[in-house]
Amino acid sequence: MGWDSLTPEQRELRELVRTLARERIAPRAAEIDASHEFPWDVVELYREHGLFGLLFAEADGGTGTGSLLALVAIEEISKVCATSGLILTVQELGSLGLKLAGSVEQKARWLPRLASGEVLCAYALTEAGSGSDSAAMRTTARRDGDAYVLDGTKRFITNAGVAGLYTVFAKTDPDAGHAGISAFLVEPDTPGFEVTRLEPKLGIAGSTTGELAFDEMRVPAGNLLGAEGEGFRLAMRVLDRSRPGVAAQALGIAQGATDYALEYARTRETMGKPITEHQLIAAKLADMETRCEAARGLLYRFGRMVDEGAPDGELTKAGAMAKLFCSDTAMWVTTEAVQILGGYGYVKEYPVERWHRDSKIYDIFEGTEQIQQLVISRAITALRVE
Ligand SMILES: Cc1cc2nc3c(=O)[nH]c(=O)nc-3n(C[C@H](O)[C@H](O)[C@H](O)COP(=O)(O)OP(=O)(O)OC[C@H]3O[C@@H](n4cnc5c(N)ncnc54)[C@H](O)[C@@H]3O)c2cc1C
Repeated sequence: MGWDSLTPEQRELRELVRTLARERIAPRAAEIDASHEFPWDVVELYREHGLFGLLFAEADGGTGTGSLLALVAIEEISKVCATSGLILTVQELGSLGLKLAGSVEQKARWLPRLASGEVLCAYALTEAGSGSDSAAMRTTARRDGDAYVLDGTKRFITNAGVAGLYTVFAKTDPDAGHAGISAFLVEPDTPGFEVTRLEPKLGIAGSTTGELAFDEMRVPAGNLLGAEGEGFRLAMRVLDRSRPGVAAQALGIAQGATDYALEYARTRETMGKPITEHQLIAAKLADMETRCEAARGLLYRFGRMVDEGAPDGELTKAGAMAKLFCSDTAMWVTTEAVQILGGYGYVKEYPVERWHRDSKIYDIFEGTEQIQQLVISRAITALRVE
């Protein structure tokens, strides 16, 4: 076991992913950002090297190597390209509902294809009027014979237009609040399904973010995920487990920016010496590295908790803490990295400009910074009362 608490086998796999990221993904990162095109070549690379399998159990066609190692892989890829890291994070987000609540048949039909990367997936909870307050959603699902008929729209859905399977949340009982929400597996070739808009964005430019419209869309009753009315609880359980994937991405960006700024500062000279020898720059680098290490401590602890079977309540708090701290670290560290590079930090010739733009989303999706603070404060208040 190393100081980072990884086993020799885990370190070996980290090395393999790190090499792949440096040699195959890093050279593509600026182009993916500039073109705003979804990088299917990166998906193909993951398929070839079995990287999607890191997110799945052996029985479902994955490697069964656990949550911690999956987080480490996402961190390594995100050090060089946030869009590419997000592909793995969303494969986890979009498949967790199936893993947690799918029937034997549903799992057998989909999980092996998700584990190989043959099919990409997506998680469709947010609507134009309901983001943080997701229970205020307006999409409805009405039972009609052997099907449910879905009507409504979803907004800001990652992998819109590239996913082959969507986990969609809709109200089966619009008057029942949280208890009226159910989850469905939806294939995009279902009549009535349409991607109506793709968003140009500040960062993660190669990832698609889109609006979905469902118009009298008939979904077989067998695609209901879990029981009717259990969708909201499932949505929250999914987020508890997927948020650390987002945190791993944020940490990867922060560490990538720290490493890059350090190398730059060692060779950039002003007033007769490398800028690392100016104490104001040295202090920045020390703080950047320290925040990354602290963020990693929270993140890896979460991975070990999942692998050791920690209860849901503990995961909620630990996952929210990892996400809150890692995303804040990414924003803070990349701002400092731009500063260390001076004018070169602000132009597209150097990657810190891109990392700075990419960082902001981690404060927003899968629960904003404020929502993580609410989740943590509620968890500690409940623990103090017990
Ligand atoms: C690039 C991108 C990708 C995304 N991918 C997905 C996806 O794949 N699937 C999906 O379902 N969604 C996705 N989202 C949606 C994302 O999760 C929401 O945007 C996010 O949860 C915030 O919701 P909102 O935008 O409606 O903001 P709002 O909920 O309107 O929040 C606005 C502000 O108010 C604050 N706020 C809200 N409620 C409270 C409160 N109770 N206390 C204190 N402050 C509060 C928020 O923190 C925020 O600062 C994505 C969004 C983006 C931008």
